[in-house]
Amino acid sequence: MPQCAFHPGVETNVRCVSCDRHICPKDMVATAVGYKCRECAAPAGGRPGGVKPRQYALAAVSGLGAGVVGGLAVGQVMQVVRFFPWLFMLLFGAAIGEATRRGSGGHRVPAIAAVAAVGATAGAVAGGFGLFGLVLAAAGAAFAVLQNRF
Ligand SMILES: [Zn+2]
Ligand SMILES: [Zn+2]
Repeated sequence: MPQCAFHPGVETNVRCVSCDRHICPKDMVATAVGYKCRECAAPAGGRPGGVKPRQYALAAVSGLGAGVVGGLAVGQVMQVVRFFPWLFMLLFGAAIGEATRRGSGGHRVPAIAAVAAVGATAGAVAGGFGLFGLVLAAAGAAFAVLQNRF
């Protein structure tokens, strides 16, 4: 079972309808559209899935760190494995997107997708993916952040 995004160790299957993070009964706020976390239900700063500055920082660190390290690793792999390079690049992007989203605390918002795309782009440059791979990785990262299933 997934754990509550606000209370580590508390298992729950309910997600906030706005930011998609897992919430336990303590965090649930019933709204017309379903259960929301307290952050999303709060009228002040009620922008759906509002990301805190600290979460942006964590997302950037996760995305860039994983991007560069992963990009270098995938670049090495592609030196050896000569088939389907686009698949490696796309999967790389998706992995960076997931790492970035987790770093942010689980936000599925365009801003975090942009952060993920930057991390994946940096990794693609580090790994020498070329322009095509760069676009693939960035798109894969953004897609992975915004979609539930890649
Ligand atoms: Zn929420
Ligand atoms: Zn909770």
